[in-house]
Amino acid sequence: MLKQIILSLCLSISNLAIAKSLALSFDDGLDPTVNMAARQINNDILSALKQNKISAIVYPSVSKIGGQAGLDIIAEWGKQGHRIGNHSNLHQSLNKDEVTLPNYLNDMQQAHQTFSSLKGFVPRYRFPFLKEGNTQAKRDGVRQWLSTHHYQPGAVSIDASDWYYNQLFLKYQQANDQESLNKLKQAYIAHLLDRANYYDQLALKTLGRSPQHVLLLHVRAMNAAWLDEVIQAFQQQGWNFIDSDTAYQDPVYKLQLQVLPAGESILWSIAKVYGVENLRYPAEDAPYEYANLQKFGLNIEQ
Ligand SMILES: [Zn+2]
Repeated sequence: MLKQIILSLCLSISNLAIAKSLALSFDDGLDPTVNMAARQINNDILSALKQNKISAIVYPSVSKIGGQAGLDIIAEWGKQGHRIGNHSNLHQSLNKDEVTLPNYLNDMQQAHQTFSSLKGFVPRYRFPFLKEGNTQAKRDGVRQWLSTHHYQPGAVSIDASDWYYNQLFLKYQQANDQESLNKLKQAYIAHLLDRANYYDQLALKTLGRSPQHVLLLHVRAMNAAWLDEVIQAFQQQGWNFIDSDTAYQDPVYKLQLQVLPAGESILWSIAKVYGVENLRYPAEDAPYEYANLQKFGLNIEQ
């Protein structure tokens, strides 16, 4: 039954389907009292977006940005015409047994209070770690809260591991290892393009079309350094950038799938419903990247 609903939703707009398109989303934010480069990193990402005339969405978490100084940095996104969503207060995984539904809902509400007065705020929720609940009660309880509070999903269609590549970026940067940084940049761009194509293929296999994608990235030093080249690489591969409001108009983001544990990319969840074989769980993680890094000449101690 669910498959039929998904299929009819997708056929109905198949005539509108155009070349592969994606919106950029950036999670977490940085705390300037912990990371001295926080403001510079944020500015550099915003500059790259401006240069390329791309409107994006940032999903800050209160625990990641710290206090008022971190909030002031996030506010810049709204001032520059980007969207700001809600990525929780404490950045907890809803799939952990010790994270209860009442505490989690309270945490979402606290983050709402912090971010909802910012210019550019939109009521969209991005689940930390893309974990949407390990039980039906938690999964459906949060969905109920979102609906009651007029929230829209802040889903991701293309998941990736930029956070892991960023860890290596910081390590090589600290060691002044320019040769490894060059290799890492090529590996990182290849990783993003590979994940984009993988999730697009999952969509073609299940929905029969390429959706308006949303790519998951983070506000991190590596993206500040390389975002411009990432954008160009996507464009060279035929990808067209759209803003997040446009991307989220795709009906695929309205789907509430009955998968447990819930979460990951929306396309991963759809593939799960369709019984696509060899789906990884978690869908993305650091160990999956060792082979790609090795291909680009980086030997990672595992
Ligand atoms: Zn996060």
